[in-house]
Amino acid sequence: MKKWVYLFHELDAAEKYVGGDWDAVRGLLGGKGANLADMTRLGVPVPPGFTVTTEACNAYLAAGGKFPEGMWEQMLDALKEVERLSGKKFGGTDNPLLVSCRSGAKFSMPGMMDTVLNIGLNDETAQAMIRLTNNERFVYDSYRRLIQMFGAVVLGMPDEAFEDVLEEFKRQRGAKLDTDLSAEDLKELTAIFKGVVRKELGFDFPMDPFEQLKLATEAVFKSWNGKRAVDYRRATNIPDDLGTAVNIVTMVFGNMGNDSGTGVAFTRNPATGEKKLYGDYLLNAQGEDVVAGIRNTEKIENLERDMPECYREFLQICDKLERHYRDMQDMEFTIERGKLWMLQTRNGKRTAKAAVKIAVDMANEGIITREEAVKRVTPENVDTLLHPQFDPETIKKAKADGRFFASGVNASPGAAVGQVYFDADTAEKMNKEYHQDVIMVRPFTKPDDVHGMLAAKGILTSEGGATSHAAVVARQFGVPCVVGAASVRIDLDKRQMEVDGKVVKEGEWISLDGGTGEVFLGKLPMTSPSLEEQTDLLTLLDWADEICARPGIRKSVNGSPTTGLQVWANADYPKDAQRARSYGARGIGLCRTEHMFFEQERLPIVQRMILAKTSEERKAALDELLPFQRADFEGLFTAMDGYPVIIRLIDPPLHEFLPAAKDLEEQIITKRIEALAGYVLGKGEPKEVVELEHMLQAVEAMHESNPMMGLRGVRLSIVMPEIVEMQVRAIFEAAANVTLKGVHAKPEVMIPLTGHVNELKVIQPRLEEIAREVMKEKGVSFPYKFGTMIEIPRAAVTAAEIAEIAEFFSFGTNDLTQMTFGYSRDDAERSFLVTYVEKGILPKNPFQTLDRDGVGRLMQIAVADGRSTRPDLEVGICGEHGGDPNSIEFCHLVGNNYVSCSPFRVPVARLAAAHAALKHAA
Ligand code: PEP
Ligand code: MG
Repeated sequence: MKKWVYLFHELDAAEKYVGGDWDAVRGLLGGKGANLADMTRLGVPVPPGFTVTTEACNAYLAAGGKFPEGMWEQMLDALKEVERLSGKKFGGTDNPLLVSCRSGAKFSMPGMMDTVLNIGLNDETAQAMIRLTNNERFVYDSYRRLIQMFGAVVLGMPDEAFEDVLEEFKRQRGAKLDTDLSAEDLKELTAIFKGVVRKELGFDFPMDPFEQLKLATEAVFKSWNGKRAVDYRRATNIPDDLGTAVNIVTMVFGNMGNDSGTGVAFTRNPATGEKKLYGDYLLNAQGEDVVAGIRNTEKIENLERDMPECYREFLQICDKLERHYRDMQDMEFTIERGKLWMLQTRNGKRTAKAAVKIAVDMANEGIITREEAVKRVTPENVDTLLHPQFDPETIKKAKADGRFFASGVNASPGAAVGQVYFDADTAEKMNKEYHQDVIMVRPFTKPDDVHGMLAAKGILTSEGGATSHAAVVARQFGVPCVVGAASVRIDLDKRQMEVDGKVVKEGEWISLDGGTGEVFLGKLPMTSPSLEEQTDLLTLLDWADEICARPGIRKSVNGSPTTGLQVWANADYPKDAQRARSYGARGIGLCRTEHMFFEQERLPIVQRMILAKTSEERKAALDELLPFQRADFEGLFTAMDGYPVIIRLIDPPLHEFLPAAKDLEEQIITKRIEALAGYVLGKGEPKEVVELEHMLQAVEAMHESNPMMGLRGVRLSIVMPEIVEMQVRAIFEAAANVTLKGVHAKPEVMIPLTGHVNELKVIQPRLEEIAREVMKEKGVSFPYKFGTMIEIPRAAVTAAEIAEIAEFFSFGTNDLTQMTFGYSRDDAERSFLVTYVEKGILPKNPFQTLDRDGVGRLMQIAVADGRSTRPDLEVGICGEHGGDPNSIEFCHLVGNNYVSCSPFRVPVARLAAAHAALKHAA
């Protein structure tokens, strides 16, 4: 008979069953169950209990809602053992055992599935409990909670069915808080709640404890496929087939008086990463009071004052657990009459900032290695840290202007500006259908609200603390969040909120700072944070670089380097290059020179060059452009002193530098109408019109049906070599000039859009000649290279020949993806690509994440064949994929020397490169 049930002290058996692998144990028992068993083995006080496996859940769901054979009997046997360990009896009338029934999947899904507490209470056991505890109030409080939870979770009744009755009851009794209700009140409420069940469902709340247990177990199994859980799995990429385990745990009570309490705590601050216990507790309360954030909690350090011994023991347990799991822990505990019980521990969710600080601190404390620290931070974490913020001046000004609205707990950092919506469905709709930036505002959030929170740029609640649902979920998804802004009065009927007469109606704008917990009226400007000030992140990125720089970290493929990837940047201007360098770029992988042509003072010269009728005219215009280009390049070489700078020769079709034919025609008509009077007087066609018509003729003459596949890149250089000749002269003059000033310039000239080696054979020697000429003229020499982009499939499959001429390859995967799929990169996303991804025809958008099977295959061929001709061929990538972690991993595997991405992505790419190196370490 298969074993479906494991007692907490049967961890060894579970390990044996799955072959000893901890990940597989978590798969079988769920994260919570595995950790409860593990804590039991560590000697941490855990209430006796057992886990029904995820295999049982999957079997139950596969059978259409039937317990697998033997499971229930095994649960009954395990319950007997729990009875023995606890000295209590389930359903007993002397010393009754009460249990909780808790969900727990392999990966934590906070609040997404169901939990029922106080199972085993009925009219008889309640009397026994009253005799035992002498605390009638507590027993009826537990009993009415059971009926409420059971009704909502197991029997599927709406929360409000009980909440409305409770509110009305409190109003009649003049009670503000639940704790203001007396034992007599709660007894009456229990009877009323039973009546609610009967009225709503037509049957009685089950008195049989075993019936309660059975139904609760089924409810937890079913909650795996509930909407909340499914939505959460979609958002977090948790597979659907894992199933949830069910943990049956002896109840311990935090609401047995003022020597009892309950709380949640993190071993380090989950918002900042600071190494200091962080959490909340409540005396005389049950767990959900703290988590729901309904009552105002005490800070965990005050427990030292209330219960010094328990606090001391708790600190020791925290330390033990953190060292055992080698990560920050998120724990739930209960103190029952002075005795501390640990109910849960798990690796705590944290903000990006905390993730970095905790990883770096733990490596420095010797708890984990530097490699582990690097692995613990995700590229998304780094991205978040470089996201927008409000600068202090903006905040100061907003306050001076009277735009301060409210403040609350700074639950998840980052700035957010958006339009306010007061429920999750509307927030989601406004974002998805109307593409609005949305701030979701609620009194507090519940797991049903997650879809709205995910669609929001920011979240604001008026209730709850740092460990409330809103705070935990926001931190996990990196959504800026302020909770517990108590001065905000939210009126859900009027769809507005108000503080001291300042009213914000639905759809109006607010700005929210999750780092300080402040909220402002209207839209505040945001700024990008500076990397320089984030010292922990800098340390971590240095460690990442150090990993990539290790010789031997990578298996050599076709003579590729044995160090990891370097990260270079795409930068067109000296200021971009400076930023790239300060973000850790080790070279420029792409300077798109045509961007320099578009500047205001240059464009007319470029147009004159294009419209020139004679070679002399063209040369004259190019001579005017040369100093501009030279100055740009000097700036780039100086910013990247000592590092390679790849400058791409002109790439786009020339018509891009001229106005569109349609615009020219309109201008001509307008000018003609304006000049009509003069025309009638016989002055002839005005000069401007003549010029415009000349331009229009040129544009029409250049018209191509498929300009992206037309006269551009190397083809243009062959047809009109004067432009690239000027560019190469400007590059080498600039390199020579800065070399003379002591800068180490390393120019690499890149020829775009090569498809046939003969194209290079025609153009490259001519350009190399100019390079040599300039160095001779200037009397200096410096290292340089000539190479090409691989953007056309034919270039990839004839790489062996191309590498005879080209000294380096750079994959232009924007064009290579376009040409390989035959999808127009400018149009595909808005016409069919989104549908393709939604329907699963393509797994991902290939313009964002490299298509390994197709485009990637071409890259493999190109690298192998290219290096077979030229073993020291330098290989990089400069398409958008150079900043995408998944594509970076592929570039590592293919044997690239470097990836090049936008300066802002450089830190993300450095971390992703180290992850790839560690994942595939030789
Ligand atoms: C590319 O095609 O990937 C590339 C970097 O060039 P561009 O995007 O300028 O065409
Ligand atoms: Mg290109």
